[in-house]
Amino acid sequence: SLTGWADIDLAAIRANVERLDELSGDAAVMAVLKADAYGHGLLPVARAALAGGATHLAVAQLSEALAARAAGITAPLLTWLYPPGADLEPAVAADLILSAGTPWSLDLIADGARRAGRTATVHIKVDSGLGRGGAWGEDLAEMFLQAARLEAEGVIDVEGMWSHFAWADAPAHPTVQRQREAFLEAIGDAERAGLRPRIRHLANSAATLTNPDAHLDMVRPGLAVYGLSPTPDIGGPPHFGLTEAMRLTARLVNVKDAPAGQGVSYGHEYTTPQATRLGLVPLGYADGIPRAGGNVGPMALGAQRLHVAGRVCMDQVVLDLGPGSDAAAGDEVVILGREADGEPTAQDWAAATGTINYEIVTRLGARVPRRYL
Ligand code: PLP
Repeated sequence: SLTGWADIDLAAIRANVERLDELSGDAAVMAVLKADAYGHGLLPVARAALAGGATHLAVAQLSEALAARAAGITAPLLTWLYPPGADLEPAVAADLILSAGTPWSLDLIADGARRAGRTATVHIKVDSGLGRGGAWGEDLAEMFLQAARLEAEGVIDVEGMWSHFAWADAPAHPTVQRQREAFLEAIGDAERAGLRPRIRHLANSAATLTNPDAHLDMVRPGLAVYGLSPTPDIGGPPHFGLTEAMRLTARLVNVKDAPAGQGVSYGHEYTTPQATRLGLVPLGYADGIPRAGGNVGPMALGAQRLHVAGRVCMDQVVLDLGPGSDAAAGDEVVILGREADGEPTAQDWAAATGTINYEIVTRLGARVPRRYL
């Protein structure tokens, strides 16, 4: 009785992680599962990624990490977004890997560790040039000294150091090499301050796929885990041996004749060029179909490739099925799926609507049921 649903192929997730593990050689794999595993579902994806050989997991927000622990995910799990004043005692007690990207976050971690009565595992976040999270310059130097003192007291263990690229999707961009060098220099500084980080990690999906020099001790891919390409200019998922894990499907809920010259959907931004049949797809922008997909968003009805006709509405969109179409209510429409199967893809939607494939999958609405295969 479902009208629209997302099939999530956990075997594909597992195979993608196996592929990333193979590509990254001796480096370990930390699968990035933030934003509900990029819309695919945190817990099932966590289990599939671990089965595929990921040794570590990562989520951005503390609440996501604690939810994973509460559900029985015991693997090493990194988290990095918490506000000043956050109570990190439960995080230390849950044995999370806590990122420190500011001097005050190191204090918060130390406070949580003392109250939890155990040593906190810390990865220091270096801003090597992204210009986003993490520390650089004097803050970073201060953190190294502070961390060395806390380590000597047994309050924290600086197990790792990490950083993130600005331009990994353009592998030849000069900042890629510069950031790697800045990161390695920072590690040297940390060692001179008495720290001994064992896990150095820098590579997102793009760097995992295109830049072996950036693999270091562990790679940290997100997008590629889900079988999507971070560098569509270089190649799609099949090019990298990856398989898209998400297929979004809906059933037509209304099929009817329409005359030539009929305006379609709000504002009549599409007009039927000839007498035709219209089909109604019961997913809209509240489900994550980009509103910018009006008149351009691709869909497939069997072998027929179609585009949204007129505006995307909150709960539904219309397709012009063509004159004489024998499609019927109940027929399945694929909104996004696999390039190798000739289906429209998240990348096609991204290209059609001026965004990136990351946004297409992470915006999939909470009310769209996920079916795990
Ligand atoms: N590391 C950090 C800090 C991130 O924010 C992200 C996601 O944006 C990733 C790794 C994974 O990146 P990607 O999905 O491009 O592999």
